[in-house]
Amino acid sequence: MTAPYYYHAPYYLSRTAVLDVGLKCVHSCKFCYYSYLDGSDDQFHGMRHAKFRDGADLHRVVDQFKASGFLNFDVTGGEPTLHPEIIELVRHASELGISQRIITLGQFLTKKHKHGKHETLLEDLLEAGVTNFLFSTHAVEEEMFQRLTGGSWLAQKAAMDALDEQGFQYTSNTTVMAGNVKHLPEIAREILRHNIYLHNFICMNAYHYWSNSGQALDVQATYTEMAHYLREAVAILEEGGVAVNIRYAPHCMLAGLEKNLVGVVGVRYDPYEWMNAVNHMSPTPTSDGLRLGLQAGTCDPSFTLVKASGQMAGVEIIAARSLPNSPEPSKVFPASCAQCTAMPVCDGLAPSYVKEHGDREVVCYVGPKRGDLLDNDRIAYKAPFFVKRSPDADMKSVVARALKPQPIGPKPKVSIIVTCYNYGHFLSQSLDCALGQTWDNLEVVLVDDGSTDNTPEIAADYAARYPDRLVYLRQENSGQPAIARNNGVAKSTGELILCLDADDLIEPPMVEECVGWLRKHPDASIVYSCAHNFGARDDIHVSQDYNFATLILKNHMPYCSLYKREVWENLGGYRTNVRGCEDWDFWIAAGGLGYFATMIPRVFFHYRNHGEGLYAQEVKPNFPEKFRQIVLNNADLYPPQMVHQARTGQPVTPMMG
Ligand code: SF4
Repeated sequence: MTAPYYYHAPYYLSRTAVLDVGLKCVHSCKFCYYSYLDGSDDQFHGMRHAKFRDGADLHRVVDQFKASGFLNFDVTGGEPTLHPEIIELVRHASELGISQRIITLGQFLTKKHKHGKHETLLEDLLEAGVTNFLFSTHAVEEEMFQRLTGGSWLAQKAAMDALDEQGFQYTSNTTVMAGNVKHLPEIAREILRHNIYLHNFICMNAYHYWSNSGQALDVQATYTEMAHYLREAVAILEEGGVAVNIRYAPHCMLAGLEKNLVGVVGVRYDPYEWMNAVNHMSPTPTSDGLRLGLQAGTCDPSFTLVKASGQMAGVEIIAARSLPNSPEPSKVFPASCAQCTAMPVCDGLAPSYVKEHGDREVVCYVGPKRGDLLDNDRIAYKAPFFVKRSPDADMKSVVARALKPQPIGPKPKVSIIVTCYNYGHFLSQSLDCALGQTWDNLEVVLVDDGSTDNTPEIAADYAARYPDRLVYLRQENSGQPAIARNNGVAKSTGELILCLDADDLIEPPMVEECVGWLRKHPDASIVYSCAHNFGARDDIHVSQDYNFATLILKNHMPYCSLYKREVWENLGGYRTNVRGCEDWDFWIAAGGLGYFATMIPRVFFHYRNHGEGLYAQEVKPNFPEKFRQIVLNNADLYPPQMVHQARTGQPVTPMMG
């Protein structure tokens, strides 16, 4: 079953496509990127005369999205809600299991319409299974909205109110320009009144069809002006529990907001950015719906950083971002950027901007490099990396948890789940470890998975000696650690859970130290330590720091890790179709729902190596098959190529991106 949302690991290519239904539009947004579409001096002439694309073609593109492994797509135009077949498109995508987000000014959603069976388009779209909306909220005052877009704020607000009433959660978008820049805080406050979990600010840049850069000058604000109001607006939104993206600005000009910034360098690694070929101008392009052939780990080739030289309006230029050999760079870097350690992740400036404003706003970063493809602060800011997959997904809760993690209480109860199958000869040692913890708010649940050795006698002895601290559970042999652990957790009452196999050992302060570490890292829900291998070998395994992007390819967490009970509850327990790898599968699924881990760099866990263990007997000889099943279990979290390999029974090749 598809989870209602997923966490997109930052270094993986986006799994979102764009469906362009045609550039026809009746609005008059001052900043519109498709202005001057047909070369006419009349800004909107081209869009008024554009046509919508044929519905049957659009269905084929949606089918191609599915075949290309996309999980989501944005519906754009023009104004896509005017497309006569929008309802059927949404229904078709929902039936295919692809989520959709309609980008709209929201003017027609609550008006009476003639294409569906309900009175309003919004009702029909909801019935068809629409997943999400992205409202273009460029102003929240009627006169200003009209002036900037030609539409009505009250009409958009009516659509938002209708969604709010139903508990439907969605997203919004403000293009930042001269006409609204001072009103960003006011817009932010209005966003908080609605059921919005993510907001984008797009810094207006003059490109696309703005052939004459002078046409943009009245519309564009300076970055200095934008930064001032953006800082206030972002603070309001985040304090209110809304995740914020800011698109397309040079890094230093929005200093302090680096975590929010999505530039052209890392844009293909952004979960909501588009990764398919799309051609606005052709009615039936054959390439639509195919994945862009971008090599993982590289930026879009149109924005490759290259050396440059020359002058631009008296400013010396040293580097540019552009297609190799392109006569016109998309972005340029003045000489004042020469020493900047943010250059690898910085967009640079649009040539038209340099010509108008020079390089006076440029201020270098010094010190360590700020990142590679994505800024380091951006990677640490997890809130905007959650992608809605189901109409009723509670995105506000997951975003709030990421923005304002709540520390655990001062004295949480911990349940240690000890599972045993014919390890009677080891059992006393593991029970002594569990019961001998320095943390006293603790219970031990011993699950005997139908042992045929002396396990029941040892268990009965311990149950008699520790009547208040040990619960004994005996079950028919399941042969499945997942089933034994699930039954143990279900029986337990602790706020925190630690699983321990009966042949392994833990140090006495493990629980106390892990609880303290978790409290110090409230953004984590799981804590793990390093391990000592003993038995057939004797060495220390230094665990890797938690990294979800690599965890999905290779496990770096011991099964014996302390985690919050809500992780197990929201995942529905350990899966039973990956015997011996159920813990790895569990950690991956947990990360996919935003339950991340932290590593305590101490050795608290002792892992017994012996030939009878499940790893030696089951996992090692069958690893390719186990990994394939893990990919299938967590398909939304893996690159489409890996999912395709898993589905078609090929060897699954771990790959980033
Ligand atoms: S590269 Fe230049 S424009 Fe970008 S952050 Fe550094 S100094 Fe600013």
